[in-house]
Amino acid sequence: MKRVYTVAIIIAVSCSLIGGGLVYKKHVSDVAQAAAQQRTAAALKAKQQAAAAKLAAETAAAAAAVAFNKQQYSADAPDSIWVVANKQRPLQPKDYAPTDLVVPQIPLRLGKNSSEMQLRQAAATALESMTTAAEKAGVHLMLASAYRSYNLQVSVYGNEVKNYGQATADSESARPGYSEHQTGLAADLEPVSHQCEIADCFVTTPEGKWLVAHAGEFGFMQRYTIDKTAVTGYRAEAWHFRYVGIGLTTELQKQGSTTLEEFFGLPAAPSY
Ligand SMILES: [Zn+2]
Repeated sequence: MKRVYTVAIIIAVSCSLIGGGLVYKKHVSDVAQAAAQQRTAAALKAKQQAAAAKLAAETAAAAAAVAFNKQQYSADAPDSIWVVANKQRPLQPKDYAPTDLVVPQIPLRLGKNSSEMQLRQAAATALESMTTAAEKAGVHLMLASAYRSYNLQVSVYGNEVKNYGQATADSESARPGYSEHQTGLAADLEPVSHQCEIADCFVTTPEGKWLVAHAGEFGFMQRYTIDKTAVTGYRAEAWHFRYVGIGLTTELQKQGSTTLEEFFGLPAAPSY
C-alpha cells in the first residue's frame, strides 16, 4: 500500500513537472508570437505612414503644377493689378482714376507734387523695395513718370500727334483711356544720372540691365519688349515697367511668357 502511495506521488509530481514545462513552453511561444505580431503591426504602420506621406507629396506636387489661377484677379477691371490695357482694350470707364495713389519714397524726376510721380499703393511699395535692393547693388533708379490721368494723357497724346503725326504718336503714346499709365500701375524708370532718359540706350545702362534681371522679383514686368511689338502694339520701351505682383511675374517667368496678352489668351493689339 505504501509503495502504491509512493508511486502515485511520483506520478503526480512528474505530471506536475511535465505540465509546468508545457505551460512554460506555451508561455514562451506566446511571448514570441506577440512580439512577432507587434513587429508586423509596426512594419504595417510604417508602411502605411510612408504611403500616406508619398500620397501627400504627390498631391502637393500635383496641386502646385495646376495651382496658378488665371482668374484670381480680373484682366478687365481697371482697378485690378492684372488689368490688361492696350489698343484693343480701353479702360472701362475710359476716364478711370485710381483711388489709392501715393508718391513712392524714391528719387523722383519731378517734384513731389506732380501727379505724374504717383503710383497706386501696392506698386509704390514694391517700387520702394526694388529701388532699395538696386541701391545695394550699386544701381541708382529714379522714377521718370508714373500715373497719368485721362486729362494729362489727352495733352501728352495731343502733343505727340501735333509734333510727329498720328502714326508715330500711336506707336509711342497711348490714346487717352488706353494707357497703362492711367491705371497707376506703370512706371517709367531711369538712372538718377538721367543717362539714356526714356531712350533705347537705357538697356545698356547698369540700371537698365539690373531691371531686366531683377524687376520680376518685385512684381514688375517689362511690358513692351522688342520682340513683341506686334502683340503689344508698342515699340520696345526698356524703361516702362508694369506692376502685376510677384505671383504673376513668377508664373510668367516659369512659362517663358513675356506679354499679358499671350499669357491671358487675349487678342494681339497692334492697332486701334
Ligand atoms: Zn511708360
